[in-house]
Amino acid sequence: MDNDQYRAVLEAAQRHARVWLGSVAEQPIRPEQDADGILSMLDRDLPDDGLDAVAVVDELAAVSAPGLMAMGSPRFYGFVIGGTYPAALGADWLVSAWDQNTGSRQPTPATAAVEETAARWILDLLGLPRESGVGFVTGGTSANLTCLLAARDAVIRASGHDPVRGLQHAPVIRFLAGEAVHTSMVLAGRMAGLGAPQTVGADDQGRIDVDGLARALAQGEGQAIVALQAGDVHSGAFDDFAAAVTVAHDAGAWVHVDGAFGLWAAATPRLAHLVRGLAEADSWATDAHKTLNVPYDCGVAIVRDDAAMTAALGAHAAYLPAVEEIPDPYDRVPELSRRARGVPVWAALRSLGRRGVIGLVEGLADAAAGLADGFRRIPGLEVLNDVVFTQVCLAAPDDAATAALGQWLRAEGTVWASSSRWQGRTVVRFAVSNRGTDAEAVRRTVDAVARGARALGITHDAG
Ligand SMILES: *Cc1c(COP(=O)(O)O)cnc(C)c1O
Repeated sequence: MDNDQYRAVLEAAQRHARVWLGSVAEQPIRPEQDADGILSMLDRDLPDDGLDAVAVVDELAAVSAPGLMAMGSPRFYGFVIGGTYPAALGADWLVSAWDQNTGSRQPTPATAAVEETAARWILDLLGLPRESGVGFVTGGTSANLTCLLAARDAVIRASGHDPVRGLQHAPVIRFLAGEAVHTSMVLAGRMAGLGAPQTVGADDQGRIDVDGLARALAQGEGQAIVALQAGDVHSGAFDDFAAAVTVAHDAGAWVHVDGAFGLWAAATPRLAHLVRGLAEADSWATDAHKTLNVPYDCGVAIVRDDAAMTAALGAHAAYLPAVEEIPDPYDRVPELSRRARGVPVWAALRSLGRRGVIGLVEGLADAAAGLADGFRRIPGLEVLNDVVFTQVCLAAPDDAATAALGQWLRAEGTVWASSSRWQGRTVVRFAVSNRGTDAEAVRRTVDAVARGARALGITHDAG
């Protein structure tokens, strides 16, 4: 077919990829150009004539270079962004080359089996029920949505209605979450037709108020879905699952856990105290593109009652091959057609092994603790949260100085951290989720923050 073209274009892509990967750790983290700047180089009508594949890839690389953020840098702490393990990247390239539509097991046995293996490993690593259904989706938001769809239909069925007839023909479903609920969970609730959650209080770290949850559940009527959280984006805090799940189950509620990055704490005995009771919930959402460091996009939806998951998400048509009794990949996700995005998960886990996963998760938490220690030694700066996992919120004495520090850091380029508001204050927020954030990266980060604090007069030099 186009063998010469494929070879040439893959070589070109590899050349550009190696330039990028070889410089990502040391180049300034911020992009040089904004989106409008890149657009001015791209923005023209579709040419009448096409272009050779290698020239296309070369042009793409050249035009994009000044607009790429070094998100894979070990000193990138914005949002919650993982890096990429080499094995996962290699597997991801193969997934594209194989181009298997991993919807059903029969036509794509290899990728389906690799994904099923990855799913089993995840359940085992996180200590979740081995009978759970697992779907590979695009991210945490779609994982939250997928789990809520399973929950919603199960709850409708439990109230004696047929979920196929939809929400209009079912009793009102109550959807509850703590005040610190992630915006993704709110969006998922709206997409699932449940609306934004009714929020109950949370403590100063963002952990749901379990007594408040009990009161809210006792006051309302009808079936309920409760969303808990493993890993608050500002504090890293985990809800008290043992207590909250008990309270919710006593009220007959379905309990979902948004653990986009925090679910992985369950992989290490050292952090087991954070996730006590987690496995008693009914569904869990997590990302592989955050803590596990596989390329975008990859999330994981996990539902204890696999039958509830496949009943809500299963697809059937005469032309779709299916083996009765064995659910297909498309029976556990919203899509029919999709890439084999569970394959890079398998590759990351295979390259790490159990010990490697533990080392990864503990390494991220150690780096966050190291950042907090270093920041606390910088006169004028304060760490606002209890650093229990991977998140650190830093503040200067006043909001304007904190905002200036965030801007200074992002412009200087050694470190990239987001500015945010938390507990009524402006913060510079550090989320450690890159596998490369080691002691050296921590040291350079603390140095950069100290320089910024001096430059802005937050730290007053004694001499
Ligand atoms: C990132 C995140 C999400 C959303 O995940 P996406 O992969 O960005 O869709 C949901 N909840 C929490 C706590 C997160 O950190």
